[in-house]
Formats: sequence, C-alpha cells, structure tokens
Amino acid sequence: MRNVVIIGSGPAGLTAAIYTARANLSPLLIEGWQSGGQLTTTTEVENYPGFAKGIMGPELMKDMRAQAERFGTGFRTGDVTAVDLKTRPFKLTIDADETVEAKTLIIATGASAIPIGLPNEKRLTGRGVSTCATCDGFFFRQKELVVVGGGDSAMEEAIFLTKFATKVSIVHRRDKLRASKIMQERAMKNEKIAFVWNSVVEDILGNEVVTGVRLKNIVTGKTTDLVCEGVFVAIGHRPNTTLFTGQLDMDGKGYIRTHKGTTTSVPGVFAAGDVQDSTYRQAVTAAGSGCMAAIDAERFLEAGEG
Ligand code: NAP
Repeated sequence: MRNVVIIGSGPAGLTAAIYTARANLSPLLIEGWQSGGQLTTTTEVENYPGFAKGIMGPELMKDMRAQAERFGTGFRTGDVTAVDLKTRPFKLTIDADETVEAKTLIIATGASAIPIGLPNEKRLTGRGVSTCATCDGFFFRQKELVVVGGGDSAMEEAIFLTKFATKVSIVHRRDKLRASKIMQERAMKNEKIAFVWNSVVEDILGNEVVTGVRLKNIVTGKTTDLVCEGVFVAIGHRPNTTLFTGQLDMDGKGYIRTHKGTTTSVPGVFAAGDVQDSTYRQAVTAAGSGCMAAIDAERFLEAGEG
C-alpha cells in the first residue's frame, strides 16, 4: 500500500511529487500515456517565475519530472480506469488490470481542450482539425488556417501558426478579445493574422481533409464560407474528472470542489491544479496548489488519519 498516490503529471502532480518525495512518503505518480500535461503542447513559457529568458514548455516539464525522480518518486505510465474512494485504503485500477492501494490520493488530472461540438469537427480531426498548434503546425506550411477562440490560447496558437501558414484568421464570437493585453497586441501586430469578429463556426467543410469553414455572423445572421486547410480549436478546457463522478463533490462544470486548501469532500483525497481551478489556470498556480496538496496529505498522514 502507498502513502500517497498522485494522478497526473503536469505542474500540479509533479510539484506534489517533489514535496511528498522530499517528505519521505515515497509517492507513486501515475502519468497518463500523454505525460506532462498541457505544457508539453505549448511552446515558450514566458511567465513561469525564475526563467528570465523564458523556457520551452516541454523542457520545463522534463526538468520538473527529473526533480521529482531525484527525490525518489515512483512513476507508473498508464491510465487510471477506475477509482474506489468509498473504502480505505482507496483503490485505483490502472489500465483495467492492476490495482493500487493508497492511504491518500492527490488528483492532478488537469483539463482537456473543449471541442466546438460539430460532427464534422470530430470526423476531420487529424485531417485538418486540431487543438494543438505545436503538435500539428508543422504540417500546415504555406497554407491558410483558421483559429477559433478569443482567449490567450487562441492568440498563442495563431501567433505560433504564422511561422508556417501564409494567413491565419482568428474567428471570435464577440467583437472583443478575452486574451491578455500583451497577447492581444502581439496578435494584432502580426501581419499574417486577420480577425473575423462576431462569428461562430457553423460547420467544417471537406470530404477527406479540411477545405474550409462555414461561418455565421451572429449580429447579421449572414452565413459565409471561408477557404482554409486547417482549423485550430482553442475555445477553452474542461476538467478531467469523469473518473470521480458521483464520488467527489464537483461544481456545475465538473471542477472538483476544494476547501481548507486542497481538501475534497472525501477525507484523504486532495485535488490540485486545473482539475479544481476554473479561475487562474496557470502553470505557476497549478504548481503552487500541488505543493499545498502535498503538505495537506503529509499532515493528514501525520495526524494518523490515513
Ligand atoms: P479562455 O480564456 O476560457 O478563452 C476561451 C475563448 O473561447 C473565449 O474567447 C471564448 O469566448 C471562446 N469560446 C468559448 N466557448 C466557445 C464556443 N462554444 N464557440 C466559440 N467560442 C467559444 O480559454 P484559454 O484561451 O484556453 O485560456 C485558459 C487560461 O489559460 C486563461 O487563464 C489564460 O490566461 C491561460 N493561458 C495563458 C497563456 C499565456 O499566458 N501565454 C496561454 C494560454 C492560456 P468569450 O470570450 O466570448 O467567452
């Protein structure tokens, strides 16, 4: 049986691992098949304190993982397919065939990109539809692209894609961006980026591959087709909490509710990072809450509650 099991290998999970490992709790961290969380699909991280010149997202995650490993974190690659939080110790099933028991559990499963919800979006995923510019941008050299969304992610994706594309049209449902000022300015200054305001994507066109999008202007009601060869959807994220439905208290959007730091509705279960934070959602806040979860778990065990 493990003192601490951590699910998730983004900044929250890895920081929880560093702290619990340094507290001699020999944590086991279960990392999904796509380890490292959302930062592995970004480019340069400019706002993580301590890196005056910025650092590439994947490199930051590699270093965090090495740091957790150095202090004795055990890693297991696999997907947690079931959890039982009703009994003590907690029981986790990995890849449907291995069971792990835990005195305390730190959930740091993060969040995933939200799709627009169009049938053709699903059908054409990997054939021109993507949620990750850093993963797929390279395939769109000398092409015209569309980015959907008005937040920091959309700006970041669009700016990155201008390295490859001839033109990037940002389609946003309002006439004001949600993105931070600095990202807005960068996108607006970029000559390859155009904005399509007050518009939503009604359909993604193409048989084998994407050939365009059908846009609806929500002010005029007018529908137009825009030719493009790639569509990058960047309209936000939803928490990865399906596994815990019915076992932990969550808000209306599925974020795990925490109180007194990172404590969830089940004593001994703690949640950190984007899985419990719909407000800040930054690498540094995720790491901070991972540290809090580690300290909360350590105190819980010390109090003999595990
Ligand atoms: P976000 O801030 O929630 O923005 C989502 C955008 O998508 C909004 O503009 C929203 O429109 C639009 N949207 C939502 N649902 C839609 C739908 N069904 N159809 C069309 N448009 C839709 O999400 P995010 O950009 O992924 O950013 C998440 C967090 O990560 C933020 O805190 C952000 O600051 C942070 N982040 C930071 C950086 C950076 O600092 N470099 C980079 C990426 C992300 P409305 O504006 O109308 O709601």
